[in-house]
Amino acid sequence: MTQNSTLKLLFLSTPVGVLGSGIGGGVELTLYNLAREMMRCGHQVRVVAPKGSQMEGIPIVEIPGNLQQAAQIQSRDTPVEMPEASVLAGMWDYARRVQGDWDLIVNFAFDWLPFYLTPFFQCKIAHFISMGSMTTALDRAMEKIALEFPATIGVYTHSQAETFPFTSTCRILGSGIDLSLYKFCAKPENALAWLGRIAPEKALEDAVEAAQMTGIPLKIFGKIQDEKYWKDICKNHPNAPIEYGGFLSTRELQSEVRQCRAVLMTPRWVEAFGNVAIEALACGVPVISYRRGGPAEIVRDAQTGFLVEPDSVAGLVDAIARIDEIDRSACRQQAEREYSLTALGNRFEAWFQDILKA
Ligand code: UDP
Repeated sequence: MTQNSTLKLLFLSTPVGVLGSGIGGGVELTLYNLAREMMRCGHQVRVVAPKGSQMEGIPIVEIPGNLQQAAQIQSRDTPVEMPEASVLAGMWDYARRVQGDWDLIVNFAFDWLPFYLTPFFQCKIAHFISMGSMTTALDRAMEKIALEFPATIGVYTHSQAETFPFTSTCRILGSGIDLSLYKFCAKPENALAWLGRIAPEKALEDAVEAAQMTGIPLKIFGKIQDEKYWKDICKNHPNAPIEYGGFLSTRELQSEVRQCRAVLMTPRWVEAFGNVAIEALACGVPVISYRRGGPAEIVRDAQTGFLVEPDSVAGLVDAIARIDEIDRSACRQQAEREYSLTALGNRFEAWFQDILKA
């Protein structure tokens, strides 16, 4: 990028959790990586996020207020919900006041309000959607913006775009990570890993059952988002060879994951992407996943992991038995080819420029 195309980008974070808490899921890492890469390319970035948010080296404006409910616990006909003293409302009030100082606002909230507000702003707004379709009310608000402001909606994957009524207008942006943080490991221990938010849509219980059937220890890392769900898994599988290692930083997470024979992904929902898949591949760790959503677009079946019939624990067990057929260096190579920060930055930068030119 040349100096005169330097952009001033105001990122509006997810309102469901404090950045760094893990409650926001993969979008926290995507936002962080994108902010860093945009700054490295010479663009100016400021992140607006709930009070208490932390992101090393990134300027943050912290906004107080109550968090939004996560969309994945709502049913399709749940109406739009706003708590009193809403942090989301506060974040967008801040954006309204400073909009004249920025070239582009980038929305990372999977929520109704930013879409509703879009026509009222003078500053252009790009919306990065981090989940598949959840509620009709939100779909309608997004669809209106997709029609009125073409090409301003970005998503991770094709499978995710297909869950929305405005599929063809979505810009597919994928994800990317700082590959230098993830170290390749050629010779793993006899252990499997499962990574992510511990919540029903992730179906951790299937991975636990697969571990029990194979007798191979399963290391679990991630934020316990649903305490009761986690307790029920432990109660229902008292003899499973599982170990919970907590919610780790990227540096700690990769040092654990790299030593595992495979990462299991068991999404019950259409996983929009699955950052954990590319983090595993970057360490040379094959991914065994249900053939559903983002992971089905990431994993090369029988080359960098296995894609198995959705919801089939027997399928997971069969794939685990074949894990040594996978060349771990092919996993790292796929991550290097497709999921570098530079590639992520180029895709987003081109999208931002197209929106500004339109
Ligand atoms: N993660 C983490 N520490 C952990 C386990 C997971 O930071 O101990 C992060 C991981 O890096 C990833 C996110 O949690 O970015 C999970 O995101 P993913 O896209 O896989 O799923 P989502 O939560 O968005 O559905």
